[in-house]
Amino acid sequence: MKCYYHEDREAVATCQHCGKALCKACAGLYNPCLCEECAQILRDQQVEQARTAEEARRQRYLDALVDTRSEFLRTCVYGVITALILRYMLAQGNASGAQLMLYTAWFFFIPFGWKLITYLQSFMPLTIFGTLWFWVFWALVKGTISILIGIPAFLYQLVKTFFVQRKIQAVSQVRPQDAERI
Ligand SMILES: [Zn+2]
Ligand SMILES: [Zn+2]
Repeated sequence: MKCYYHEDREAVATCQHCGKALCKACAGLYNPCLCEECAQILRDQQVEQARTAEEARRQRYLDALVDTRSEFLRTCVYGVITALILRYMLAQGNASGAQLMLYTAWFFFIPFGWKLITYLQSFMPLTIFGTLWFWVFWALVKGTISILIGIPAFLYQLVKTFFVQRKIQAVSQVRPQDAERI
């Protein structure tokens, strides 16, 4: 039997994939032993697999960014709800119109403070969150701190979301093969 590519050479092996006869020189080109065509098909498959994996990685990254953005928008909604509820409660008292407006604006930021403390809380050892009374106490402390740090916490999350938004745009525009550089 002669080599598929060289009519003048004796075949010493066959392509592992399609069974074409190959001479010594051709058989030594690939490991496992493959003909040109099958080797090319295999390369194409590998490129396609790498592309698919890269696309999936990029999608996960984009999803995480979008999550961060929706989290911010969700906190804004909580802020509006918190402000409306507290404003309603405050309006039962004898606060003036200007005070009401100021407080209502401030109340909006409370969920941002709360969210930041919740995040910091994840670094605390779980053992200190033992009893029910501790949770009640902790909720009061957390509420108070939330009111105090609401505005800076909001600014921090606003800036973060701004950069996340820019990353989302960059990732959405870029071709998959360029995504590594972000
Ligand atoms: Zn082959
Ligand atoms: Zn050959």
